[in-house]
Amino acid sequence: MTTRLYYDDSDLMTFDATVVTCAPVDDRFEIVLDRTAFYPTSGGQPFDTGTLDDAQVVDVIDRDEAGIVHVVRAALAPGQRVTGTIDDARRRDHREQHTGQHVLSAAFERTGGVATVGFHMGGEVSTIDLAREVSAAEIDAAEDDANRVIREDREVTVRIVPEDEIAALALRRQPTRRGALRIVEVTGYDVSACGGTHVARTGAIGLVVVTGVEKVRGGSRLTFLCGVRAVRGFRERRDRLAEIGRRLGVAAADVGPRVARLQQDLRDAEAQGRDLRQALALARAVEWRAEAETMGAWRVVIRATELAGGDLSALARAIVAEPGIVTVLTGPGVPVPVVVARSADVALDAGAVLKAMAAALGGRGGGRPDLAQGGVTAEAPAIAAFVRGHLADVPIA
Ligand SMILES: [Zn+2]
Repeated sequence: MTTRLYYDDSDLMTFDATVVTCAPVDDRFEIVLDRTAFYPTSGGQPFDTGTLDDAQVVDVIDRDEAGIVHVVRAALAPGQRVTGTIDDARRRDHREQHTGQHVLSAAFERTGGVATVGFHMGGEVSTIDLAREVSAAEIDAAEDDANRVIREDREVTVRIVPEDEIAALALRRQPTRRGALRIVEVTGYDVSACGGTHVARTGAIGLVVVTGVEKVRGGSRLTFLCGVRAVRGFRERRDRLAEIGRRLGVAAADVGPRVARLQQDLRDAEAQGRDLRQALALARAVEWRAEAETMGAWRVVIRATELAGGDLSALARAIVAEPGIVTVLTGPGVPVPVVVARSADVALDAGAVLKAMAAALGGRGGGRPDLAQGGVTAEAPAIAAFVRGHLADVPIA
């Protein structure tokens, strides 16, 4: 079993150790040392990177009794002495995020009685899962309390506590492990069983900010940033807001009202567009009815248009608003959108006409006796020719 040097000293960045085993796996090697300062992925915290002599450590896995496995790209001989070097910036970032998580989770417990049921530290952001949904005001309250504790620069201590003394501790979460536990305590604020690497004082966290919240299985998942990540996150948001402000031609503080006005302008423009399309349809209906072909007792309007969907059927309705009219309109696209409609007094089944058209020319469609629509896989002239031939064969009542 590997001696975990990071348990006692989160500041230890270089160490000497002896290679116990080296196992080739695919194009990599799994190295177990007699002792290590490399933190393996566990408890929501990702592994440390760094080197064993010149070999880059690309993963660190906790195999419990089998020890801690360092995955490297070069073989190391069992019995060989190696120097391990931890990537300092990555470790410091993980310490800031992890202690920040303890403080933030304790803050939710203390300000709102909300338990943390999950923690994940990602490369960009970290998340905690809370046992219930929380309001924006509750998030603000917890965030404020956590930052107060950070500003107070409280001591963070780590100690091993024997099993029989665990019950006397006011642990924030009940431990899942038996035996002696590693206890991480933020003085006067939080007591947790945790194997992670932590900062020595809360001041090193710098700042904690909640950057997002989503509902997850009856609870909330909060995204948060601590330390350097919080500063970077603020900068990104500031720059993004400034960019939006520039595009809108207003100061960042005025972006909200400006967007609200643009939304209203868009709604107005859409309403105006609808009115204009309707007016155009009515004008066209009058013009096209005047130019209708006469077939028996009906006047027939067959036209190719640039319209589709609701606009096409609205125009057809406008055309058949007078008695004695049958209209067949097509739009652009493949298959060609087709609407067949007739006036209320015309004894013709528009749906049946469209079905016959689709059967003859290919495509599909259907609808009510007074209006039917579909798509036909033929050009507009072929559709017009079919309609003229078909209507000539229909007995007129
Ligand atoms: Zn922890």
